[in-house]
Amino acid sequence: MRLIQLIYVSDLVGENEAAIPAILESSVRRNGENGITGMLLYSHGNFLQVLEGEQDSVRETYSRICKDPRHHNAILLTEEDVSERHFANWSMGYRQLGPEHAAKLPKYAPYFQFGFDVSAIRAKPGIALEMLELFSQGML
Ligand code: FAD
Repeated sequence: MRLIQLIYVSDLVGENEAAIPAILESSVRRNGENGITGMLLYSHGNFLQVLEGEQDSVRETYSRICKDPRHHNAILLTEEDVSERHFANWSMGYRQLGPEHAAKLPKYAPYFQFGFDVSAIRAKPGIALEMLELFSQGML
């Protein structure tokens, strides 16, 4: 089995935060069926998500996600082979980031405090995964 990890960013359509619970419900349900684990972060109208699992399942899931009309402007940041899951405990963990996180985490704040800064994230390889892991550990 080829295990991969995929990270992307996207924009919530219309900043309609009321849509997020239904997105999470179907994510957790479908990921359980498809052997996908991961984490979804939301900040100021932007999503940052990591999906991990068997290559075909991750690619099929990402392609379904990209067609979802509740968000747009999906940008793939990384797709890499991994030897083990980093988010094994989460069918899909979720955190909404706000000013309290920016104040507590000044090192990471520039990357998320006004929404995810794609240029800054791209300029610092590894930072997206570092943030996703940090916030997933904070959930335990
Ligand atoms: P249902 O949840 O029953 O939905 C049926 C269809 O209607 C889908 O095409 C869905 O896109 C669409 N839909 C549902 N509700 C609405 C609505 N309120 N407005 C417009 N269209 C709607 N899916 C995963 O499997 N794993 C993930 O990790 C995952 N992460 C996501 C992250 C984000 C940011 C977003 C926006 C979506 C994510 N999804 C994820 C959801 C994915 O896009 C599909 O909606 C879902 O996988 C389809 O599940 P379902 O077949 O059970 O359909």
